[in-house]
Amino acid sequence: MNNDVMFNIGYGLYVLTARENEKDNGCIINTLMQVTTTPNKISVTVNKNNLTCEMIKNTKQFNVSILTEKTDFEVFERFGFHTGREVEKFKNFDKCKRSKNEIYYIEEYTNSYISANVIDMVDLGTHIMFIADVIEAEILSKDKSLTYDYYQENIKPKKQVEKGKYVCKICGYVYEGDELPEDFVCPWCKHGVNDFEKVN
Ligand code: FE
Repeated sequence: MNNDVMFNIGYGLYVLTARENEKDNGCIINTLMQVTTTPNKISVTVNKNNLTCEMIKNTKQFNVSILTEKTDFEVFERFGFHTGREVEKFKNFDKCKRSKNEIYYIEEYTNSYISANVIDMVDLGTHIMFIADVIEAEILSKDKSLTYDYYQENIKPKKQVEKGKYVCKICGYVYEGDELPEDFVCPWCKHGVNDFEKVN
């Protein structure tokens, strides 16, 4: 079996946001899809390590903002590479607004947003899949939706990584030690050792 096949699956990139007890938070996901049209339902799947996952589990509501090809790398650094347990992800960020459910959506670098109410949750071990009714959806621009491939080729900085180091194929994080521990989890994107490659 060739696990690299998984890299040939096409994905988009989105900012998933939630709000609980006046705390706003968000993270980057690639797992948004529409699951039924009538009625209009979507699913998002989120790593349990993400604070956003916990907040959605508790509040049963979220927004998803659909990123475009014009997204700055800064957006990935802000929402993807830190945990909301340690930083306020919306601090000094004015490119957002609240939708009717009071949750932030991202106003710039996006072409639309969706507000949704969770109707079902599937525990997948490391992740939770939330299935939700779409309760609001608005178009924000005509810019093209960002794909994961476009991000890899045009937005993620191409940096020179030293030989012998391990680099995360998903987000570009570089592991500084010589041997990658078997249970290592990328601190930025939360992917495991299977998504790391040694630089030769
Ligand atoms: Fe990573």
